[in-house]
Amino acid sequence: MQLYNTLTKQIEPFIPNEEGKVKMYTCGPTVYNYAHIGNLRSYIFEDVLVKTLTYLGYDVTRVMNITDVGHLTSDGDTGEDKMSKGALREGKTVQEIAEFYTKAFLKDLEKLNIQMPDILEKASDHIDIYIQMIEKLLQDGYAYQKDGNVYFDISKVDNYYQLSGKKKEELQVAVREDVEEDMHKKNPFDFGLWFTTSKFQNQIMKWDSPWGVGYPGWHIECSGLACHYLGDHLDIHCGGVDNIFPHHSNEIAQSEAYLGHKWCNYWMHGEYLNDKSGKMSKSKGGILTLSVLEENGYNPLSYRYFCLNSHYRKPLVFSYESLEGAEKAYLKLKKKTTVLKKEGSIDDAIVSEYDQKFKDAISQDLNLASAITLVYDVLKEKQVNDATKRKLIAMFDQVLSLSLLEEEAVELDQDYILEMIQKRQLAKQNKNYEEADRIREQLLKEGIRLIDGREKTTYESIKEREK
Ligand code: AMP
Ligand code: ZN
Repeated sequence: MQLYNTLTKQIEPFIPNEEGKVKMYTCGPTVYNYAHIGNLRSYIFEDVLVKTLTYLGYDVTRVMNITDVGHLTSDGDTGEDKMSKGALREGKTVQEIAEFYTKAFLKDLEKLNIQMPDILEKASDHIDIYIQMIEKLLQDGYAYQKDGNVYFDISKVDNYYQLSGKKKEELQVAVREDVEEDMHKKNPFDFGLWFTTSKFQNQIMKWDSPWGVGYPGWHIECSGLACHYLGDHLDIHCGGVDNIFPHHSNEIAQSEAYLGHKWCNYWMHGEYLNDKSGKMSKSKGGILTLSVLEENGYNPLSYRYFCLNSHYRKPLVFSYESLEGAEKAYLKLKKKTTVLKKEGSIDDAIVSEYDQKFKDAISQDLNLASAITLVYDVLKEKQVNDATKRKLIAMFDQVLSLSLLEEEAVELDQDYILEMIQKRQLAKQNKNYEEADRIREQLLKEGIRLIDGREKTTYESIKEREK
């Protein structure tokens, strides 16, 4: 497996700390608004990475946080508190906002066939972990207190600029606003670990700490959760490219200072989804969400297909025209894959030949476009029977997750279903259970499941239920 590592700026063979096992941390959403389709591009990339590693035989444990505290509108120590902003906007409590948008986020993951992380935890549930880390950082001289806040002292670490690959001066220009606004720190890039002097009068989430009542900085939550759930050594850490600086640079600084050794070997970052005016972001307003795409008649999996066709390290420009193209191609592909017959003997030689080709593609720093081309190649094979093709596509779909073999939801013909239910009732009355079962099975094949209640039999579309 070859992966591009942001830390070393090159493609490297992937070697986990423990043979066959991968410990992976992925930064989760700040739940003050819906995820936009740019955020979702990052989560699709991470999903494909988990599934690729799993396909290649690794046992992957993935942890993700839900940011419900500490993240300001700038990724540094300035700006507004995102959660309070959401609460104010909607006249709800921070907790209600967090709960609502977490649910919406999970729904989006499901619609995009994104596998749930093994461990998904709220930042606000782990305050004691951050406090304990900050205490150690203070003890060991990596952090200092100033005007009621605790800051990490970046002058105490020597590789602070390695991940971003940028010079201090370049970064200073880039984040000038942040730097000038915050006068409490020794160095402009020192970052807050714990705040007691919130400039937000309405700071809602607050906890007791050795430094007074306050709240943790955003960066410490990822280090805290990663170390707590995955231990002292991490194999892969992911996020979008905007996380490289300052978020991930700060995570490295504080985690390595805390642990006393190198923390994570591979850092992977997904490029932006842009719209015509540039990077898609929540703060710009008018964001495109998955629901908006659905309202416009697009299948969420067409969006997944759209993303997979472009390499995760290349910026991708979204437009409805290109989504339309992706949807057409995707639905056309599904028409070919869903009709493949199940019957027939599987040609093992062909299966292993294509399995190898597929592994080669995904192992090349996730070359998903080539992996998708292989689906078309399999379909084009003249000498290969349907059963073998089906088997291969089912295997590939473990990574692609495009539901290539799933029939589209059937249009429910109510009269027909009610007629079938009556017939089955009659069969049961006549003790013809074989016929009753046959009817149930037939409907099931057509995507309709019967539910026998005490009073009467009702039904549901299998697709609907899975939503
Ligand atoms: P946030 O909810 O703002 O913390 O972002 C969640 C994830 O989405 C992070 O990994 C970001 O790096 C990523 N992200 C934000 N904007 C974009 C974008 N326009 N394209 C791709 N990924 C993005
Ligand atoms: Zn993070």
